[in-house]
Amino acid sequence: MKGFVLSRSGEPLMPTTPRRARLWLKAGKARVLHRDPFTIQLSFETTGYTQPVTVGVDTGSQTVGIAAITKSEVVYQAEVYLCTDITKNLLQRRQYRRNRRSRKTRYRPRRFANRRRSPGWLPPSLWAKVEATVKAVRLVASVLPVYQIKVEVGSFDTQRMQNPEISGLEYHQGQLQGYHLREYLLQKWQRCCSYCGASGLQLQIEHIVPKARGGSDRASNLALACLPCNLRKGNQTAVEFGFPQVQAHAQAPLKDATHVSSVKTAVVQQFRDLFGPDQVTITMAMKRSTSASRCSTFPNHTSMMRSRLPAPLEKW
Ligand SMILES: [Zn+2]
Repeated sequence: MKGFVLSRSGEPLMPTTPRRARLWLKAGKARVLHRDPFTIQLSFETTGYTQPVTVGVDTGSQTVGIAAITKSEVVYQAEVYLCTDITKNLLQRRQYRRNRRSRKTRYRPRRFANRRRSPGWLPPSLWAKVEATVKAVRLVASVLPVYQIKVEVGSFDTQRMQNPEISGLEYHQGQLQGYHLREYLLQKWQRCCSYCGASGLQLQIEHIVPKARGGSDRASNLALACLPCNLRKGNQTAVEFGFPQVQAHAQAPLKDATHVSSVKTAVVQQFRDLFGPDQVTITMAMKRSTSASRCSTFPNHTSMMRSRLPAPLEKW
């Protein structure tokens, strides 16, 4: 792996071999700026000639793949692991605040009208992903003369992911067409508890994968349970509760696909603001599943990039 080089004035130059970096350092012609990624700054004037470096970004919901290439070689590659615990942390903050309000504390000025949302607002969990993606690319741009950014954004057809044969009007006719949700669930589970089979008593709508564990409100994640079963199941999934046949009704979540779709506009906009609209190109990839082949921006390099990756960089 090459070392990154900054000019005397701090402009990124082309990366150099470890040997040359070592010689410069020994001769006192450079100093170490960062160790990770290894970057040196020259203390003598150079011409400042650079080759254009292209950065490829493959956006994702859990990880983001980044590679920087010159005409002939890959000079940087990383897989960034995105935060997935924002929701949990915000919930905790909310609980602390709630607690604080019932305590006797010093006077705090009241807060109101501070909940405005600007256009393009994203939920904090998604905004964190946007920022981490942009931050990772800015890091690359701080050590390499980045000329162009290629963003690969997935465009997910969530309906097709569930039903590959779907076409035309079927897109308008969802699972619940002609039903109310409660009616649909009663019909689906034959008006009895999905777990003990009891009927003729009050049934509750129940999440197969609990909300607290990331389960959604989709009809496929809902089942019916009597009160005792619901209480006993608590925070467990149906499998953990011992009912894999109920779990089988829950379809694969579409959360990751939706996250990528929601995040892409903001990511591209941020790159355009930072690097200029002409420097950013977008590759649209139609994806039918989240695990489909991921990055095609650099067909020659990506397989290498994925397989040769060192340990994850760090959590942003
Ligand atoms: Zn029951």
